[in-house]
Amino acid sequence: GRQRYELFSAGLLEQSSRRFFIETQLDAALRDGQLYLNYQPWVQLPGGQVMGLEALVRWRHPLEGCIAPLEFIPVLEASSQIVRLGHWVMEQAFSQLQQLDRAGHSGLQMAINLSPHQLFDPQLLDVLTHLSQSYHIIPGRIVLELTEGVIIPDYHQACEQMLRLQQAGYQLAIDDFGTGYSSLAYLSKLPVNRIKLDRSFVLKMTESQLDRQLVQSVIDMLHAMGKQVIAEGVESSLQLELLRQLAADGVQGYFLAHPVSECNLPSQLQLLARR
Ligand code: C2E
Ligand code: CA
Ligand code: CA
Ligand code: CA
Repeated sequence: GRQRYELFSAGLLEQSSRRFFIETQLDAALRDGQLYLNYQPWVQLPGGQVMGLEALVRWRHPLEGCIAPLEFIPVLEASSQIVRLGHWVMEQAFSQLQQLDRAGHSGLQMAINLSPHQLFDPQLLDVLTHLSQSYHIIPGRIVLELTEGVIIPDYHQACEQMLRLQQAGYQLAIDDFGTGYSSLAYLSKLPVNRIKLDRSFVLKMTESQLDRQLVQSVIDMLHAMGKQVIAEGVESSLQLELLRQLAADGVQGYFLAHPVSECNLPSQLQLLARR
């Protein structure tokens, strides 16, 4: 009713009560189907073939409207509920890959974001193994994305867990590269297959020749370490062209495709295939 709408509207809820609201609504959200995934394709360079998707969680609350992942993920991380949400996200993502395989979009990769509690979840590998078997998805098609903020605070333990995942066949990626510590030295020792260059790098690139050279040398160094480089947040044809020249291995961003819902995914994939 009207009264309840007012009670829960974003403007009226203070920060702390909004956090409490999120913490206490997860069960209902999962039960009532308020959560769903959007998928954003990424394409390979230089050819432009779609190689995979990134799963991005969405929460549409009946009274509160859309709650951004940047708001609710940190709250659920702080209360450890992220692990439960993460299991649900992984199940949806694996199931989506199986559906795409059956629909003729076979062999795509799926990138899944992991926050700290998820990486250190002792059940993580078991859950992945179970999903991989149930949905007939080989581990090599799953890319686990971790930010430096997930890895650095507990570096040794993170490395051990990452190594276990990599040995089981999963791919690992550093997300938002360039926003965190970004020391290239430690990167060469980390068990990661792929680096996702943050949007800020992509933005800088068009500003000056010097910035372009900086991005060039970062990409070259990552390649010398044997890492794949995917650029994020590509919003223009100029950025795409520059990244092609700088030999990035792949790109993701609004210029190619926005994140789309499950039902819009097949037409989005067909559009990209015809580009
Ligand atoms: P992220 O992993 O860096 O995801 C990329 C974000 O950039 C997404 O925002 C996406 O919609 C947005 N984006 C994609 N292309 C462009 C572009 O060309 N320009 C601009 N300006 N933005 C672009 P979104 O979906 O709001 O997700 C925000 C963050 O929430 C993600 O950042 C990720 O850290 C987190 N997140 C999302 N889903 C999950 C999840 O299932 N689990 C966990 N642990 N975190 C998640
Ligand atoms: Ca990500
Ligand atoms: Ca990112
Ligand atoms: Ca980000």
